[in-house]
Amino acid sequence: MDVWQSPIAPGISWYQATLTERPTYPALDGSKSIDVAIIGGGYTGLQAAYNLAKAGISVALIEASRFGDGASGRNGGQMGTGQRWWPEDLEKEIGYERSKALFDMAENAKRHLLDFAEVHGIDMEYMPGQMNVSHKRGHEKDYRATAEIAAERYGYPHISFMDGQETAERLGTKDYYCGVRDTGTGHIHPLKLLVGLARAAQAAGAQIFEMTRATGIEKTRNGPGGKILVRTPSGTLTADRVLIATNAYIGDLEPVTSAHIMPIGSFIAATAPLDDFPDVLPGGEAVADSRFVVRYFRKSRDNRLLFGGREVYTSSNPADTANAIRKQIVDTYPALKDVEITHAWGGNVGITLPRQPFVREVMPGVTSIGGYSGHGVMLSNYCGKLYADMVGGRATDLDHLAALKIPAFPGGRHMRSPLLFLALTWFALRDRL
Ligand SMILES: Cc1cc2nc3c(=O)[nH]c(=O)nc-3n(C[C@H](O)[C@H](O)[C@H](O)COP(=O)(O)OP(=O)(O)OC[C@H]3O[C@@H](n4cnc5c(N)ncnc54)[C@H](O)[C@@H]3O)c2cc1C
Repeated sequence: MDVWQSPIAPGISWYQATLTERPTYPALDGSKSIDVAIIGGGYTGLQAAYNLAKAGISVALIEASRFGDGASGRNGGQMGTGQRWWPEDLEKEIGYERSKALFDMAENAKRHLLDFAEVHGIDMEYMPGQMNVSHKRGHEKDYRATAEIAAERYGYPHISFMDGQETAERLGTKDYYCGVRDTGTGHIHPLKLLVGLARAAQAAGAQIFEMTRATGIEKTRNGPGGKILVRTPSGTLTADRVLIATNAYIGDLEPVTSAHIMPIGSFIAATAPLDDFPDVLPGGEAVADSRFVVRYFRKSRDNRLLFGGREVYTSSNPADTANAIRKQIVDTYPALKDVEITHAWGGNVGITLPRQPFVREVMPGVTSIGGYSGHGVMLSNYCGKLYADMVGGRATDLDHLAALKIPAFPGGRHMRSPLLFLALTWFALRDRL
C-alpha cells in the first residue's frame, strides 16, 4: 500500500504504516441538498454521519484532507475513564449530580465505542488496562482517594491504588512515585477504528467526501425556511443543519469555535519491538503521567513502545520529533537509550480553557462540537452519535456537555499562541522542579 503523508500533520505514523488498506473517497463535485451537512471527517463527524444515515436522515460530510488525517487517525489511542478531570475535582466545580452524570456519560461512551467496533467487525487492536502515575512525591493520599471515590461514589470498582514498588514493577521504571491502575478501560489502534468507521458511514448511506475544504458557512435567508449553505472550492452543500466537527483544525472557518478551541501540538514516536526489554510495561497497559506537559505511552500489539509527549516548540520535521521524544523515552526508561525509533509523528489536540469539551450552537442550526482536551477517543465517537440522536429529536447526554461553561481564550486568535507558548514553557519548567 502507498504510504500517505497527511498534509495537515507532520510525520508518517506507525498506524498508517501498519494498515493493509486505507480506502480513498471522492471529492465533492457540484451541489447537494441534504438534511444535515457535516464539516470534518474525524471520529466526531464520521460517527454523526453514520448515525444520521442509519436513522434515515440525509447527510453529506466533507473532509479537507483524508479521513483521519487530523487527531482521530494519529492519537495515543488511550480511552481512559470519565472526563479529562478526575470526577472528584469536577465535583468541586459543578457539584456531585452533574459530575456523576458526566462520569456516567463517559462510561456510556466507552461501551458505545467497544460495541461499535464489535458490531462492525473492526479489529481496533484493543488492549486492556490504563495507569495514571505521579512524577512527584507526596501525591499518595490523592491517588488512594481517587480509587476509593471512583468505587464508592461513582460506582466504578475497576481502579486500584499502586504504591511505589507496584508502580515500578508494572511500568518497568523507577521514575514514578505511585499511581492508579484502571482495569475497566484500555487502548486501541486509532486509525484502524477510523477506517472502519468511514466504511460503516458510507455503507449506512452517508455521502462522504475527502479533499474538500469548507471555505464558508452562511444562512441563505433568516427565519423559517432558511437554509444553511456550506461553500467549498468544488461545490456547495445546502442543509437544514450543519455540524462543525473540525476540532483543533478549525482555522478561520468559524470565529466562535476558533475562539474556544485552541490547537496544541502533541507528538508520538514508535520504537522497534521491545522483545529484549520484558520489564517495560509487562502487563501491556497504557500510561499517562501527572506532568502538565503530559507524557503518555503504551505498548502496541507487536510489542513496540508508542511514547507521546507535547513540546513547547512546534516542528514539522519528524527527525526533530524523534529526537525530542527519544530524550523523554530515555529519561523514563534509561535502558532504552540505544533503541531504534522507527516512526515519529504529530497532530493537533483541541483544548479549551477549562479542559472540558465544547458543545455549542454557534449560529442558528449550526452546532460546533470539539475541544475534548486530549481525552477525545471515546468522547468524540459518542458525541458524534449523540448529535445524530439530537437531530432525530431525542434528548441526549450532549445536554450535560452543552451546559458546561467554556469561556473563550483571552487575547483573540493572534495573541493566544504566544500566550500559550509562555504558559507551556512555564509549566514545563515546573514539571522539572
Ligand atoms: C498526538 C495526539 C495524541 C492524542 N492522544 C489521545 C489519547 O491517547 N486519548 C484520547 O482520548 N485522546 C487523544 N487525543 C485527542 C483525540 O485524538 C481527539 O480528541 C479526537 O480524535 C477528536 O476527533 P475529532 O473528529 O473531533 O477531530 P479530528 O480527528 O481532528 O478531525 C477534524 C477534521 O476536520 C477537518 N477539517 C478542518 N477544517 C476543515 C474544513 N474547513 N473543511 C473540511 N474539513 C475540515 C480536518 O482535516 C480533520 O480531519 C490525541 C490527539 C493527538 C493529536
